[in-house]
Parts: sequence; C-alpha cells; structure tokens
Amino acid sequence: MLALTVDVEEGFHGLRPSAHAMKHHPPRGAFIRPLRSILGLFEKHNVNSTFFVLGEIAQIFPEVVEEIYDSGHEVASHGYFHLDLTKISLSTLEEIERKTHDILARITGEAPIGFRAPFAKINSAIISLLSEMGYVYDCSVVPSLWIPGWWSNCCVSLGPYRVSAGGKEFFEVPIAVFPYLRFPVCGGWILRNFGVTYVETAIKCLLRKGMPVILYVHPFDVDPDAPKLESVRFHVSRHCGGYMLRAMDHLLKTFDCKKMPIRDLLREFMVH
Ligand SMILES: [Zn+2]
Repeated sequence: MLALTVDVEEGFHGLRPSAHAMKHHPPRGAFIRPLRSILGLFEKHNVNSTFFVLGEIAQIFPEVVEEIYDSGHEVASHGYFHLDLTKISLSTLEEIERKTHDILARITGEAPIGFRAPFAKINSAIISLLSEMGYVYDCSVVPSLWIPGWWSNCCVSLGPYRVSAGGKEFFEVPIAVFPYLRFPVCGGWILRNFGVTYVETAIKCLLRKGMPVILYVHPFDVDPDAPKLESVRFHVSRHCGGYMLRAMDHLLKTFDCKKMPIRDLLREFMVH
C-alpha cells in the first residue's frame, strides 16, 4: 500500500522554525496552482490520498479544501499555524487546534481523524490532546536514524502502531524510511535532492517487507515558480516544478500496489 500524501501549505511554511524566525506571513494563495497540478496528477492515475491542510489556509481558502474533498481525497489537519507545536503551551494548542478541527469539519461535513504536526514535531501530550479532540491517527513520526535538528526515532516501528492516548484507540503512522539503514525517504525534499531512484528503491524494500509506504509532498515541490529566497540554500527549491511532477508520475506508474488515503490504509493494515 502506498499513500502519497500532501501537506497543504505555502512554500515558506516548510522552512525550519529557526530560519523562518517564527515570523507570521499570512497565506496568499501561491499554493493553489501547484496544488491543482497535484490534484490533476492524482486524477490521471485515479489515485485518492490524504491532504494535511493547514488551518489558516482552510480558513482563508475554504473553497480549495472543498475542491480537495470533492475530488475524493481525505482531508486531515496539519495544525492551524505552521509552528513547532512542542514549543507552545497545551492550553494555547488546544484553543488553536480546536479551530482547525472545526473549520475542516465545517467545510467537508466530516470531522477530520488524521493529523500531521508541522516540522514533524510531536510528543505524547499533543497526542493525548488530539485523541481527546476525536483524532484517530497521527502521521508525523519519521523513524529514521538521528538527523541533527530533525528526527531521531530510530527505534520505533516502520509500520503503523497503536499508541496510548487516554484510553482511546490511537495510531501513529510513520513516514517512509529505508528498512534497516533507517535513512529518511519522506518525499518532497529528498525526492528532489536525492533523485527518484533512491526513493523508488526504498519503496520496493518497504513493499517487500509488507510495510505500507507513506510519502509526503508539498504544493511548493511541484511549483516551477517556487520563490528563491535569499535566506535559504539552493537545495530548498532545487528541482521544484516539472522534475518533481515527473518523478511523482513515475512513482505512481511504477508501483501497481494499492494507493489510498491513510484513513483507509490504516484500516486495512490493522485488520491484516
Ligand atoms: Zn508542513
């Protein structure tokens, strides 16, 4: 099973919190055109997936979220602001995340059950809060070897697993890494900088082990006009646009495994 998920945010949201200096730039809609390229690609391959939408984007552009949902995809939450959620108080977090939950539910008519933390920064207190709000899974953990400043979850499972969250059933759905070596695979940045063969090899290894493959991309990744920001290095926007769309097209064509939203993938994986 493969889920090529999408984090619906503007290009600048993905910068590391330190580089971004927590400055708040309201979304202006630059993500919409590249997002539609992704929707078009999924339609071409008849693929449904999960879109983790930033709350403030849903607030300003509800019609875009509706478009995603009406195309048959799962709409999940990527938090309200693109912040490191482990750095804010739980009460503030609860307040802003209820907002995201309610906005998404209002637009789609369905309460979201999936969550991905900005910068993949999550902890057990946040998981408990999400569970209380009605979320059923989180998809933030990259079970890779230690990457300074980023991830260090080299001991957790490669496939979905149950986590304790106040007595309710809750799952963590890890993002793809190479089995054994635990090199991150993830999606967007790695696909653009390490190339499609690297990611393709990892997918083959994971599928052979019977593991579902969770990848993520951003609209920014497929935007040929992705802004070149002075403060960031070339690898941030390297190969954005056509290269990335062709790479995604190639992966969707190459693997004839089941491709589905995480909601459905989780159900299938936990039953078998
Ligand atoms: Zn993000």
